[in-house]
Parts: sequence; C-alpha cells; structure tokens
Amino acid sequence: MRAIVMSEVGGPEVLKESEIDRPEPKAHEVLIKVCACGVCGHDALERSGVMKRHVELPMVLGHEVAGEVVEVGSAVSTLKVGDRVATLQRQPCGECYYCRRGQDSACPNNRFFGHRGHTGGYAEYMAASTRAVVKLPDEVPYEQGAVLACTAGTILNGLRDEANLRAGETVLVTGAGGGLGVNSIKLAKLFGGYVIAQTTSEQKVDALRAAGADEVVVSRGAFHEEVVKLTDGYGIDVVVDNVGAPVFKTAFRTLAPYGRFLVVGQVNGDPVNFNLAFMIQKGIRMIGCKSTRWTQLHDLVEMTRRGLFTPDVGQVMPLEHAAEAHRQLEDRQVIGRTVLVP
Ligand SMILES: [Zn+2]
Ligand SMILES: [Zn+2]
Repeated sequence: MRAIVMSEVGGPEVLKESEIDRPEPKAHEVLIKVCACGVCGHDALERSGVMKRHVELPMVLGHEVAGEVVEVGSAVSTLKVGDRVATLQRQPCGECYYCRRGQDSACPNNRFFGHRGHTGGYAEYMAASTRAVVKLPDEVPYEQGAVLACTAGTILNGLRDEANLRAGETVLVTGAGGGLGVNSIKLAKLFGGYVIAQTTSEQKVDALRAAGADEVVVSRGAFHEEVVKLTDGYGIDVVVDNVGAPVFKTAFRTLAPYGRFLVVGQVNGDPVNFNLAFMIQKGIRMIGCKSTRWTQLHDLVEMTRRGLFTPDVGQVMPLEHAAEAHRQLEDRQVIGRTVLVP
C-alpha cells in the first residue's frame, strides 16, 4: 500500500511516499481503509525531533483517522465490513483499572497510532483495536470524523468534563487560529461561554469571529491587560491554553478568582516557572487536558450528526502532499486542521 514514511527526523522533507506492507488486523482489530487523516501539531513535533519518546524509525505518522472497515479480526463482533468509523488517538487495552472505570485515555497500556512500529494513518490502510473505534453515521463526513477526537475531544474533555464550564462564564482561548483553537471557540460558545480569542495573526480575526468569538485579541506579547479589560476587569473563568510556555505567564494573569486553567497544548519543550502563591490567592485550578475518552468521541459524533457542533476542517489535501501540509502547519498558514486523503 501507499504510505508516507518517515525514515529520519528533520524538516518536512523527511516525509516521503513509499510502498509498504498492508497491516494485518489482529483478533480484536479491524482494518480501516483510510478515507481521511488529520495533520496534527503532535506529528510535526515528532517529525522535527522535539518529541522523542515514542519515535521509532522508520515510522508512519497519523492518529486522526476516519475510514471504512474492510476486514475484521477473528474476535470482532461489534463491527462489520463496510462500517464507517472514526478513531481515538490511541488504543486503550480495555482491561485495566482506568479502562474499566471509563477513563480509557489514562490507560497505561495504550498504544498511540503511529508510535513504536504501529502504522499510523498517513497511509491507505490502518489497523485499529475496536476499543479505539466509534461508528460514524452517514451524515458525518470522513474529514470531520477524522479530526473529532484530537481537535475537539480534548477540548470537550477540558471544557465540559474537567472545567465544568457554565453558561455566562468568560473563556479565553489562546492560539485560537490553530486546529484546536477554532473548536475551542465553538464548544465554549455551545456551553454558553463569553469567548475571547487570542491570536498572533491579524488575518485570522474574521475567521475567529465567524467561529463565534465574541472578542479577538491580536497579540504577540503580553495580552493580560487587554483581555481583563474586555471582561470589565472581572477576569477569565476558564483559560483554554493551546500554546503553552510562550504565553503561559500572560494567560495565567488573566484568571478571575476560582478560575480554571486548561493546559491543552505545549508547542515547545520549555519549562515555565511561576509563584504558586498566585494559585492559592485566587483559588485557581490547573488542569492538564488528557486526550479523548471513547465516550467523549461518541458524544462528539452524535453532536456533529445532530448539527450542534461542526468540527473545523481547514483544508483537504492528497496524502502525497503530507510534507507540504507540515510546512504550512509550521508556518501557521492555515486556519483549522489540514486533512490528508489517500
Ligand atoms: Zn492529533
Ligand atoms: Zn487500559
């Protein structure tokens, strides 16, 4: 089958089209004909060498997949050939303590698609455990289904299930022009938030307003004063931080008493230091947003089917343009997710 193989770490040019063996589904797996695969910041960090832990070369990246089941393993009873499906980013074991209490995103035995020899979705076919797969109704296009878990599941987890965002609360979305940012705006609006979006790009303002942002702050530096002013001095109840270290200090300073700070993204490996007393003084909760549970992907599929939410797909490109997709991601040229189609 055709796949985009990465044989060395480096710039986008290390992503090369190649012929490799089609994976064989194991007993509890299905073989998916990939119809769409999202290009994630995580992929770029692994390709460039910033994220090293799970890189085992050669590898095929891609953990945001939707497609059609073309083969089922001997122990699969819940899916059949022809089913449309979307995947989680990782495959939980289904047996451990965390899986059994519905916290499958914390499964210590999980296997991330594309990591450690598991062929990811930058390919014509990908094998996936049934525990990582949700059925996709006909109303939800593959391009949307592919990106639900990674670009919206993490945010649904953060806003709805961790921060308990309530109608009327103020929300700041940092790095709002990226793949997670636009969905952060949409979901925060769905739950009744008053949303301030921060971006570094003047060109993205209209698109962020179209996604539902009540206010847009364009800033490359400290933005806390401007943001707090927009809340009439009250501050932010929930920060959705898609950026991490480069904006942490200024984003943290926007928080209102009892604010919740959702750590969603970390674009580089830099540590941050801050005075813990600020957390005590304001009763701040800091929450690392672990990615998507099976139930959260299931809910997002239903929300999309019913028209409550539409995930943001920036552009669709042929699989062989994977390197170009990475280039554009790193140059921040696109709003929303790029989806590759084999
Ligand atoms: Zn992703
Ligand atoms: Zn488990």
